[in-house]
Amino acid sequence: MELLMMQPVFKEAIWGGKKLREVFGYEIPSEFTGECWGISGHKNGESSIVGGSCDGMTLSRLWQEKPEWFGYYPGTQFPLLVKIIDAKQDLSIQVHPDDTYANEYEHGSLGKTECWYVLDCEEGTEIVIGHYAKDKEEMEAMIRKQEWFRFIRKIPVKKGDFFQINPGCLHAIKGGTLILEIQQSSDITYRVYDYGRLSNGKPRPLHIEQSIATIKAPFEPSVQIPVIEILEGAIHTHMIHCRYYSVDKYDVHGEFIHEFVSYFTNASILEGEGTINGIPVKKGNHFIIPHGYGTCRFKGEFSMICSNPETE
Ligand code: ZN
Repeated sequence: MELLMMQPVFKEAIWGGKKLREVFGYEIPSEFTGECWGISGHKNGESSIVGGSCDGMTLSRLWQEKPEWFGYYPGTQFPLLVKIIDAKQDLSIQVHPDDTYANEYEHGSLGKTECWYVLDCEEGTEIVIGHYAKDKEEMEAMIRKQEWFRFIRKIPVKKGDFFQINPGCLHAIKGGTLILEIQQSSDITYRVYDYGRLSNGKPRPLHIEQSIATIKAPFEPSVQIPVIEILEGAIHTHMIHCRYYSVDKYDVHGEFIHEFVSYFTNASILEGEGTINGIPVKKGNHFIIPHGYGTCRFKGEFSMICSNPETE
């Protein structure tokens, strides 16, 4: 049993920048790189394993061939997707469907529940979460009349904030924000409003009807209160537990010993460096701790976000 170190996949976008190189040292394809898919078994961008007995193998193939490494988690595809997003410009205002809607209208795809940990953002930055329509009817009217200023709810954001975005929640990251996103492995996004921007000379497609069908109204905020505990060698912050995943942050100082008991654990190093059972890890590394890996002896000074898939 071994740690599965991942080779990320990069995605360019009109709103992307170059912080993935400047902050994390990744080799990015251009100055408009929006996303690093650090742990992905999704067909639109598959990460593969680097080193060890599975060197070069894609995560989706490993999922098929070694289900025991994933604790026989149910499902035909790797369930989660871990990304870092560099928004140099505003992202489109968007919404995601739930499993039922996606399965019916998007060829059996998973729906998308996602969450964000804010790695960094510029002073005075806001984030779009929710809307001000009082019911479905008003929501539809505001969208059709393009009353974006009245409709869209913006709140201030700062480094270290955490947000859960359930299906049906209108959302968008604004320019100047760097986040780690953990989500169901789905690439289905309904764009409601794109600030009238052009990509290669034309506007990107909007999905008005699907958005109206899936946006929940009125908006109900999902309140997360992180639970912090001081352990020997680490500060543990439990961020969330929902039906698809749980998310925990570990700030390791010195030596921290832990055994993960879930199906398997995704891990991303956000800051610093150190070792895990003697294997060096540093800022920007993404890896999977397989099922039954046993005790992890973490050494060093680093921050790490872990996510575990859940079942209902
Ligand atoms: Zn989203």
